[in-house]
Amino acid sequence: MLEQTTRAETALIRLLQRQYFPADLAEAKQFAQLALFIGDNGIVRCHSRLAKSEFDWCTVCPILLPRDSPLTRVLIWTIHVQNHHIGVSHTLAKFRERFWVQKARSLVKSVIHHCFTCRKFFTGPYQHPPMPPLPPIRLAPAIPFLHTGIDLAGPLYIYSEDKISTKAIYVYLSV
Ligand SMILES: [Zn+2]
Repeated sequence: MLEQTTRAETALIRLLQRQYFPADLAEAKQFAQLALFIGDNGIVRCHSRLAKSEFDWCTVCPILLPRDSPLTRVLIWTIHVQNHHIGVSHTLAKFRERFWVQKARSLVKSVIHHCFTCRKFFTGPYQHPPMPPLPPIRLAPAIPFLHTGIDLAGPLYIYSEDKISTKAIYVYLSV
């Protein structure tokens, strides 16, 4: 199954590259710095600056993908979802382990911005109200401990060593 998935992905990427990039890679001046070459399975890859690292060959020579293809967005989104909705930097790092896209960070940001699950969990139910001006008592210079306050929190339940019974405690804080 995994092998079939890999073969299907390889075929899709090869088709995508033929559709978006010129047949003669030397014509693609925007990619001149990447030293493109055709790797195994006829997939266009580029040389990264990690040649002397111990990374996997797929990371050293990532697959070139077009920026404006829906498949590129799907690949980014898949990485994002398979890794439990990780953030932009982490998704970008994972994506770059195998692929290379121009201006990848903004593309990853855009994909994650449209992730419904992330929106559902990380968006508040309403916007915070504007912060009111500070009261005069907090702005006037004063000697230490001229104003004091107390706060109480609890009950907090703490498990005993046998992890069966609990004990309630209260926290008293004075400033
Ligand atoms: Zn997400």
